[in-house]
Amino acid sequence: MKVLIVDDNAKDRKLLRLCLEKRGCQVLEAADGEAGLEMAGSGGPELIISDAMMPKLDGFNFLRKIKRAPQLQTIPFVFYSAVYCGSKDEELGLALGADAFLIKPTEPEELWQKLSEVVERNGRNVCQLPSGLPAEEEEYLKRYTDIVTSKLEEKVAELEKARQELERSEQRYSRLLGSVTDYIYTVQVKNGRPVSTSHGPGCLAVTGYTPEEYSDDPGLWYRMVSEADREAVERQTALVLSGEDFTPVEHRIIHKDGRIRWIRNTPVPRYDAKGKLTAYDGLVSDITDLKKLEEKLRHAQKMEAVGQLAGGIAHDFNNILTAVIGYGSLLEMHMKGDDPLRHNVEQILAAAERAATLTQGLLVFGRKQILNPKPVNLNDIVRSVEKLLARLITEDIEMKSRLAGTDLVIMADAGQIDQVLINLVTNARDAMPDGGVLTIETEPAKMDHEFIKTHGYGIPGNFALLSVTDTGVGLDEQTRLRVFEPFFTTKEVGKGTGLGLSIVYGIVKQHNGYISVYSEQGKGTAFKIYLPQIRASVLEAEAVAPLPARDGHRTILVADDDTEVRNITRALLEEYGYEVVEAADGDEAVAMFNKHRDRIDLLLLDVVMPRKNGKEAYDEIIKLNPDIKALFFSGYTADVIKRKGVEEEGLNLLTKPVAPRQLLNKVREILKKGARK
Ligand code: ADP
Ligand code: MG
Repeated sequence: MKVLIVDDNAKDRKLLRLCLEKRGCQVLEAADGEAGLEMAGSGGPELIISDAMMPKLDGFNFLRKIKRAPQLQTIPFVFYSAVYCGSKDEELGLALGADAFLIKPTEPEELWQKLSEVVERNGRNVCQLPSGLPAEEEEYLKRYTDIVTSKLEEKVAELEKARQELERSEQRYSRLLGSVTDYIYTVQVKNGRPVSTSHGPGCLAVTGYTPEEYSDDPGLWYRMVSEADREAVERQTALVLSGEDFTPVEHRIIHKDGRIRWIRNTPVPRYDAKGKLTAYDGLVSDITDLKKLEEKLRHAQKMEAVGQLAGGIAHDFNNILTAVIGYGSLLEMHMKGDDPLRHNVEQILAAAERAATLTQGLLVFGRKQILNPKPVNLNDIVRSVEKLLARLITEDIEMKSRLAGTDLVIMADAGQIDQVLINLVTNARDAMPDGGVLTIETEPAKMDHEFIKTHGYGIPGNFALLSVTDTGVGLDEQTRLRVFEPFFTTKEVGKGTGLGLSIVYGIVKQHNGYISVYSEQGKGTAFKIYLPQIRASVLEAEAVAPLPARDGHRTILVADDDTEVRNITRALLEEYGYEVVEAADGDEAVAMFNKHRDRIDLLLLDVVMPRKNGKEAYDEIIKLNPDIKALFFSGYTADVIKRKGVEEEGLNLLTKPVAPRQLLNKVREILKKGARK
């Protein structure tokens, strides 16, 4: 028997062909209704088996054409198709004159049996003309459309499912690719020279380049090695090629995206039977994150060690200074005013005072200072010193502040946080000699495990973030690692002490906080300080006493040999409406007083200064104006000062470093009292 199979699916055609040929049939094939129609006309089949849904001409229309062609209409016609519309497909098929509607898939045995029945039935009943053909064309079209529509819907659903599956698999792939931090390469070696290299696909994730890019450009691998590490890598490669040493190397590479990554390259040799090196495999692992954590840990340990050392030295050093200053002061007191050696003693005392200031800084860095922490709103602290900070910067620097909309209550010593801001702002000013923008920001920050993992520090919880950002010269990597070290400075001698950031670091640590630096050379620097928020509401938090209101029209003589102290004191006093006259030593203080005697209302005198100390200058000045008021400041502990006679006389005294609000309050208090002392 000659059978025509019409089906657009080649696999289905093949299956059916096998099944029919096994039973001795001769098979003709067509992939759609149009081809089927042609084949039916030319091939003379005795049975047509057709699929329902096919391109060009589908099975139903194919059947209609067959039944309308006089010479073909008698050929038995069987649908062999999947069903899309329940029984509707079958009904339509049979109504159009099909002899049977068989549903895909049917077992070969059963299929053959059904086909035989059809053929047999047809043998008896020569012409099977359409019996129940839908009367109206319209009716036919309607049924037909239903079937096509549901087939389409099915296809769309299938496509959608496939698309979703693809999307999911793409996501899985990119997650996988993103998490791959290792790959393998192989180098073939001949006579101690590399002849070819092939990179595993993981190289894309680690280096950004594809295996093809590596094979197209043999020099790529070498160029990718960071310049600073090339020599070491070259040396190690030579050792590997000579078969001498297969120790892993760790070095930096430049990823295709321009970032620097750290990798560890572990070579494993392959030898031939004679023990000659024929190739080696290398395992390349991205160890950037590891390196970062390592560096942070090393840094933290170093700071801890330096802090302990500095704190310890500072403590002993303080005692030594107490002795130097004590005996020096005794010596000075017993010297006559015109003693030719007097100048030397004054120099010793002035130097000792500078040393005391440094020691004070070291004590802060070593977290050895006494704090007075209270619940305070960080925003209030910033607001209260903003004006003073603005005074510290030069005119061509624009200062912006952006404070969080919510209260940020922390447990802190407000005066210490002032100090942090003063030091950071001073540094920012120095980093912007040609002007720029300084931004002070506060915001709430949450530390979670993700944060801790990426930063390498912290404990989970709510923090208040204080950032000071400038658009200055920035820091290079080497400097960045060292900025918090005591005495680390890049400033010229006399300009910087290298203690500013050490003090900041010490204060932040003593507040259980964290500090980090972000910087890009030439673009600027950002210091970020995280201080733990506490639960107390801001109502419970003590209001940060606002700096006193302006108190104008008074003139104050400020005498101190330290320029930086004079600068900040002047800035503070001027901000609050006072006029300031400066003097750099005791002699100058007397001279300046003489010059401006009718307008000076108060003396602010450093106790230890060259060329007349504070007390001596004061003693001379009261001869000129017995009613003049005075306030002394000193870097020494109280008992040392006593010997200087300041406290004995009940004079006003503040110990350095003097917090801005403390100084202003004292100045106002003294000016108000109207008393001499
Ligand atoms: P000092 O200011 O006395 O040098 P610091 O401890 O305050 O000491 O700062 C140490 C060093 O850190 C500075 O000398 C400078 O090189 C660098 N530095 C600090 N802050 C900044 C900044 N905002 N921009 C650029 N460099 C900075
Ligand atoms: Mg500084």
